[in-house]
Amino acid sequence: MIRNPIPWPNGAKCAVAISFDMDADSLIHVAQPNDSHRRLYPTSMGRYGPNVALPRILDTYRRFGLKQSFFIPGWCLEKYPDTAEAILKDGHEIGHHGYLHEDPIMTYGTQREWFERALDAHKRICGKPPQGYRAPVYNITDEVIDLMQENGFRYDSSMMADDVPYVIETSKGQLYEMPVHWGTDDWPPFAHFEEIGYKMPVRSPSAALSGFWEEFEAQYEAGGFFMLIVHPFLTGRLARWRLVEKWIEETLKTRKVWFSTLAGIADHMDALQKSDVWSPSVEKLPYFNAPPLGPQNF
Ligand SMILES: [Zn+2]
Repeated sequence: MIRNPIPWPNGAKCAVAISFDMDADSLIHVAQPNDSHRRLYPTSMGRYGPNVALPRILDTYRRFGLKQSFFIPGWCLEKYPDTAEAILKDGHEIGHHGYLHEDPIMTYGTQREWFERALDAHKRICGKPPQGYRAPVYNITDEVIDLMQENGFRYDSSMMADDVPYVIETSKGQLYEMPVHWGTDDWPPFAHFEEIGYKMPVRSPSAALSGFWEEFEAQYEAGGFFMLIVHPFLTGRLARWRLVEKWIEETLKTRKVWFSTLAGIADHMDALQKSDVWSPSVEKLPYFNAPPLGPQNF
């Protein structure tokens, strides 16, 4: 069971979001800044995302009439403006995902510069500011939350405190949280990328994706929220995306689901709260103002 299920539109039993993080080759440039320009294989692996996988993914969504959310670093918007244009033209949403996929913990204290540089890219290339944010490697900090609130963001999608969307509250206000989890992220089963510190045993498409579908079944049964957090250069590859496409087709035919952008889910939560039908669970932040036992050298 779920503690505080959200009544979904049109009697749907479960909300579904297949969200993509389109990191492209930003990953190698941020991990190996001194010689990334010489590293052709990882650059090419990243470029597969916008150039090969994205058109395939957009084609599937068009065929099924789905609108979904894409998170894109500002540098990737600048480097691949045609991809951003194609995503927006089909009615999808693009969210903030750092500038060069910099980790907010590793760059703590300098996030304003990175965050605003990415925001500027969104305004210039997408023609509007983003409504949502997902932290690179999920490493959201209080510094980023302050910047989101200062810039009128509606939601974050980097934290894991509940099964369904909830509210995060600070002294400066509230944001919605669209919770993620590693169990529905394609990094563990598919990322083999030694140059950025990952050497995962790559799983077969069916083995990896069947784990995701089990997560869906539990969420569906409980009336919850199923979100995939996937990357075009990983899950957009031919054999993997073929299975996702089949799953979408079957799910639309046989289940009562609501596919939505995350901004669409935020709209729905606004409407439910306004009409007093439902109120979200609230996580108050900060969890701690300092390490709970003080700084230690373990
Ligand atoms: Zn990312």
